[in-house]
Amino acid sequence: MSHSIVFYNSWSKEKEVFKPNTPGLVRIYNCGPTVYKRPHLGNLRRFLFADILRRTLEIHGFKVKEITNITDVGHLTQDELEAGEDKLEKEARTQKVTVKAIADRETKNFMDDLKALNIQMADNYPRASEHIKEMIDIIQILLDKGFAYETKVGVFFEVDKFKTYGKLSGNTVDKLAEGARLAVRKEKKQAADFALWLTDDPDHLQQWDAPWGRGYPGWHIECSAMSLKYLDSKIDIHTGGEDNKFPHHENEIAQSEAATGNRFVNYWMHNAHLQIDGEKLAKSGGQQITLDTVRDKGFSPLVLRWLVLSSHYRSKIDFSWERMKEMQMNLDKIKTLLRRLIENGALKNNAQQIDTAVFENFTQALGDDLNTPGCLAVLNEYMGEVNHKLTENTTQNGELGRVYATVTEMDRVLGVVAGLREEIEQEVIPEGIARQGEAREQARQRKDWTTADRLKQEIMAAGFSVEDTKDGYRLLKR
Ligand SMILES: [Zn+2]
Repeated sequence: MSHSIVFYNSWSKEKEVFKPNTPGLVRIYNCGPTVYKRPHLGNLRRFLFADILRRTLEIHGFKVKEITNITDVGHLTQDELEAGEDKLEKEARTQKVTVKAIADRETKNFMDDLKALNIQMADNYPRASEHIKEMIDIIQILLDKGFAYETKVGVFFEVDKFKTYGKLSGNTVDKLAEGARLAVRKEKKQAADFALWLTDDPDHLQQWDAPWGRGYPGWHIECSAMSLKYLDSKIDIHTGGEDNKFPHHENEIAQSEAATGNRFVNYWMHNAHLQIDGEKLAKSGGQQITLDTVRDKGFSPLVLRWLVLSSHYRSKIDFSWERMKEMQMNLDKIKTLLRRLIENGALKNNAQQIDTAVFENFTQALGDDLNTPGCLAVLNEYMGEVNHKLTENTTQNGELGRVYATVTEMDRVLGVVAGLREEIEQEVIPEGIARQGEAREQARQRKDWTTADRLKQEIMAAGFSVEDTKDGYRLLKR
């Protein structure tokens, strides 16, 4: 593709032309799930965003190496961590099972959800609990270089030593000091200092030996350890939800750059939240809408995928079942077009050609900071033209094959066509409707227009349509 890609970089707070460290190869790190509970819709939006990013890079010809970590040494926020609360441990205690059993179960649920949403698999999903040694190594370097200090409750990072601390999120050390909630541990030199290793909770279910005593790592250090290890210390893009900027990503930057002496990440990309009735979704909050809820309400997971595609990743999504219905209608339109294309023989000759100009507009929108609403507009306009031609019977020889090939090519990012085709293949016209269709056709042949019209109305009222073509009639689910 000739045009360049532009991404909004949360670090510079500007759109920048994207250029990877290694030409042709993009290394991406996604902050993964804390596996103590089934992901909610806000979590899923985050991984759909990462999927769209990956597919966009691939459609522009890049190879992608993508890592998503699994947080199974569970902590969520600095406050909770330092206050000794660990979501995974709490869940394990409540359910009277091991932390590993919870983590395994929820990792599987997470993977199932990714598959259902047609999210491409990352190259690796490393688990925090299997990278304790790498974390200890970085903590030791930070101590040796004087960026960290040891106390009788553990090792802390001294943010004052890292001059650019706070640049990503705009939280300066001064502002942080005002946040009294952070000053949980009196052993810290300063409220903003954060834990790298904690040793003072003998009841913690997961503990490892370290030079500073038996204990467990802080949350942030795992992402530094695993991203540097699996992406050869050349991370092009690091993604996360916007609430990860502080403290998580700020702390990742501080500890990684202090340890390596190099820039940690070139492009930071953050997605906005998904809200339900104007409220931010939090796992701890009451609103636990999962993919199962979506299915229970009669929607395919692809409808959620479409909802995410129809908003720009840096805009909030206001989730509602009403909006899901709208998205369902949009997907139904695509399905109807696919059905018409198939039924009109679009698959007969394996067309390799696509409508290049349309596809170019589509990829150009994607390359402009993942403008997925722009992509969908290109698709909609294209579909409108094709539908019009189909209705007017004015399609040229080979045109339908080209349309099908173009939509399929767009689907490398959209990721819905295969699923919709499957739905089409499973559709059966009920026997009663088929009989009415036949009766209408006979009425038409004997020129009994009143009966033919009445039958048509009945077929429509039952949710089907009947179309007359030059080869006879056909029934379609509407
Ligand atoms: Zn992370």
